[in-house]
Amino acid sequence: MVRQSGRVADNKKASLNVVEKTKTAVSAKASAAASGAAAVKKKVAAVAEEAKVEVVKKTTAKTTASKRKAYAVAEVDDEDDVKDEEEEEQLVKKKPAPKKRKTAGAKADDSMPLAARTAVASLPRAMYIGAHVSGAGGVQNAVTNGMQIGANAFALFLKSQRKWSSPPLAPESATQFHSLLKQHGYDAAQHILPHGSYLVNLAQADAAKAKQAFDNFIDDLERCEALGIRLYNFHPGSTGGDTMAAACGRIAAQLNKAHKATESVVTVLENMCGSGNVVGSRFEDLRDIIAQVDDKTRVGVCIDTCHAFAAGYDLRSPEAFAATVKEFDDIVGLKYLRAVHLNDSKAPFNSHRDLHANIGTGFLGLRAFHNIVNHAPFQNLPMVLETPIDEKGPDGKSFENKQIWADEIKLLEGLIGADAETDEFQKTAKDLQAKGLSERNKIQEQVDKKAQKDAKKGTRSKKKATAAKKIKDEDSDSEQEHECSHSDD
Ligand SMILES: [Zn+2]
Ligand SMILES: [Zn+2]
Repeated sequence: MVRQSGRVADNKKASLNVVEKTKTAVSAKASAAASGAAAVKKKVAAVAEEAKVEVVKKTTAKTTASKRKAYAVAEVDDEDDVKDEEEEEQLVKKKPAPKKRKTAGAKADDSMPLAARTAVASLPRAMYIGAHVSGAGGVQNAVTNGMQIGANAFALFLKSQRKWSSPPLAPESATQFHSLLKQHGYDAAQHILPHGSYLVNLAQADAAKAKQAFDNFIDDLERCEALGIRLYNFHPGSTGGDTMAAACGRIAAQLNKAHKATESVVTVLENMCGSGNVVGSRFEDLRDIIAQVDDKTRVGVCIDTCHAFAAGYDLRSPEAFAATVKEFDDIVGLKYLRAVHLNDSKAPFNSHRDLHANIGTGFLGLRAFHNIVNHAPFQNLPMVLETPIDEKGPDGKSFENKQIWADEIKLLEGLIGADAETDEFQKTAKDLQAKGLSERNKIQEQVDKKAQKDAKKGTRSKKKATAAKKIKDEDSDSEQEHECSHSDD
């Protein structure tokens, strides 16, 4: 949609008068599927305009699937701060990533565009919004997957995020990646943000394990450089029980080594939401790492909205958002901000729980995202959704419903320049909140229970640790909490 003089009015209308249009959009999409490729493109473009809050409906189905997960993760939550690298490795070995089975229907849809990409120049602000897409079968597939959901930026894993060894980047994958980027006009240096391995802990003190982590890290950086990617996002790590200062020092030392061993890639630290041993939950941790990095042009920060909120940084009201941004600027420096992860939070403020929710359905709410996409200094950064898209098909098998991301991208783009004080905005925000209510209540209850338990017992008990471990062994979904909500291999 081209927005010129009347764009504010257009925005309001297009982005907010949406719930009623969902039915039309769904039927348009269904008939689009039956038409030829040209017709599909045309109709999907129309759908893209209309289907902005289809996510409202999708989220209901998602709630059931995520219920089980949420219960499982609740029990293991407080194990985070004592979990060491060894335990993590064991966990990964024992339980490979849950495979997402696709229904025949979902498979057939793989190449069909779910939304047309918005021309960023047509938006009131240059916001590049996309999602963490799959690069399964080769990194080139991430480009197609990004196109499919109408993403103007995207994240991907450059190799398996749960394995220590992976085959090298195939030359034909790299060639196809480059030609697809060119064909679709993606700027690899600006708007593609790979996510690092979950196994790598650059704060690792043990020499052999630190080397293993470093080698894996460097391998990813080299892949970035071969693909023309400039930004590389990773989780800072875990202290392993050491002091935060020592951990930050070790991370910085590893980064210095990595920068010397590579040419240009910028290593982007993601803020975290855990407590205790988790590095990066406080802006001060990020500052302390950056302070010890020799080449400041090679280090940056990615703010994950869910992590920030769960770590105690509020983003909900314009005032709270401004205060958090100011705090970040004062402590870290806004010039280091290189990317944003857009996730709502199923867990309440300052709960230190990492549970991503669909946009507007969590404790952050739509207003927070209005703040973010209208903040001028965030322009031109890659903004990446890591929201849940797993659903159960009619056959009971789970599949990834990428339409959710396509719709969330349009929803967020529609917020740019829109007036948040209108009745329409309030209604959309309220409808999305209603969809997430039961999930929020459930997690709130878990958080309250845990707080009661902690108050009663003081520090964590052995009994709790054992119970948590048992659940971890039983349910692989529990891993989801510590990771961005996507699988890839
Ligand atoms: Zn994230
Ligand atoms: Zn992450």
